Amino acid sequence: MSEIYLDGQFLAPSEARFGPTLFSLNYAVCAFEGIRCYSTAKGPAIFRLDAHLERYRSTCDFLSLESPYLDIDALADAICELVSRSDNHDLYIRPLAFIDEGIMQLGKPPAVKSCIFALPLKSPVDFPVIRLGIAGKARSLDTISRKISRNYLDPYLGLKCKPADVDDLLFLDADGFVTETSAHNIFFIMRDGTAVTPRTSHCLPGITRDCQLKLLVNTGIHVEERNIHVDELASVSACFTTSTASETRIVAAIGPHSLDSNNEIVHGLAEEYRRNVIGKSEINKEWNHYV
Ligand code: PMP
Repeated sequence: MSEIYLDGQFLAPSEARFGPTLFSLNYAVCAFEGIRCYSTAKGPAIFRLDAHLERYRSTCDFLSLESPYLDIDALADAICELVSRSDNHDLYIRPLAFIDEGIMQLGKPPAVKSCIFALPLKSPVDFPVIRLGIAGKARSLDTISRKISRNYLDPYLGLKCKPADVDDLLFLDADGFVTETSAHNIFFIMRDGTAVTPRTSHCLPGITRDCQLKLLVNTGIHVEERNIHVDELASVSACFTTSTASETRIVAAIGPHSLDSNNEIVHGLAEEYRRNVIGKSEINKEWNHYV
């Protein structure tokens, strides 16, 4: 791991020490982001930095996490500095806002800390092809649209009982409507050639999802954000998942339904997204923040 940013300082990872009374560790009050930096022909490029920081700021507001080090401009500067200080520019960057040590007063939490760390991450050349199972337990919609620690409890517990022959799970709400997978948004290409994805009442408003909605509009394919019932999966022809870390995963099966993993629309979108992140697309150039 490269250096860590903590409240205005850059530290070696071993210098950042926290004990077991961390409020956030005990009570899961924690906001975070997942951002990628790509090494490109024009230098390191952070993908959709502004959109990620806007979502992060709104998550911090939701949890009332206040600190001068969580100001959007301060965060943008810190992230760029962290990238500049790193030898490797293919990075997964995680800003993390959490509450310091002290657990005895839930109503009077200790100070908020602003941390950023980065891990090496390079994309595979080929898009992964995966099989999805359908989770047996409903996903809570309560805070599903926020990037907060507590939202990973359902996926964590679900994945612990995942069958060995699937790679990830599709989670439904209590009424049988599609939400998302463990940590990715989902898009379906229906048999009639239209594309659908759940509304953000049913999933995290993913930044990759937002990119794909725009790329779909550009291709002229009719795309809808709407509730999708599990019974409709029988009418799905192809499917893919989206996330910053994994970009595009092609779904070959969902539960009993086999899908077209060679679908041209899906492969076209996956490739166009890849061109965008590495600054090779002629459109959406504002999505690349060069350091
Ligand atoms: N849903 C969940 C639960 C996630 O954790 C993520 C990010 N890993 C996504 C969707 C995709 O969001 P994004 O495209 O912004 O990475």
